[in-house]
Amino acid sequence: MDQIATGKFIRELRKERGMTQQALADMLSISEKTVSKWETGKGLPEVGLMLPLCDALQITVNELLSGKRLDGATFRQQAEENVARLLQARQEAKKKLAVCIALCAVSLLAGVALVLTAGLAEMQTWARILLLCVALFVVGGQIAIICVIDREAGSFECPYCKARFVPTMKQFVLAPHTFTRRRLQCPHCGRTSYCRRRLDKS
Ligand SMILES: [Zn+2]
Repeated sequence: MDQIATGKFIRELRKERGMTQQALADMLSISEKTVSKWETGKGLPEVGLMLPLCDALQITVNELLSGKRLDGATFRQQAEENVARLLQARQEAKKKLAVCIALCAVSLLAGVALVLTAGLAEMQTWARILLLCVALFVVGGQIAIICVIDREAGSFECPYCKARFVPTMKQFVLAPHTFTRRRLQCPHCGRTSYCRRRLDKS
């Protein structure tokens, strides 16, 4: 999938139909900014928006992902390539999440081990303090890394408009959450709610 090619293609088709970015955005209940983001190749439409977008532009999802109109002969081959790429992106997101969980466990163990050593072993006060500082540093550093990986592993789905989005770092870190949900503000409809984690990247 070539984001830039897909973006140019969306713009081309929208203009062919005499629609403004706002008109297309209204049809999909999204913001004009999102349409502009797609057209400039800064993002691909979220999976949940692909069908409605293709309906609006009267193309197939396969053509959208390929960034061009396809005839019968190339259609099948492109379709297979596109499906393979989508699956690969999903697999990578899952792998990242697994790495994240492993890192989380390791940092917790390392932190506990360091704190126990500092508390129980015979040593000078300064050594104890140093060890506690190292423990804090290890756990803090790991949490920061985990946040970065975790935020990027997939996206969140708004329960109201079903839009998928990746929250900003600040939103992500500050959001109350459970294992599968995080309280976030949806950038599409603006409502704040517990959004479910999805492994598809947008
Ligand atoms: Zn929403």
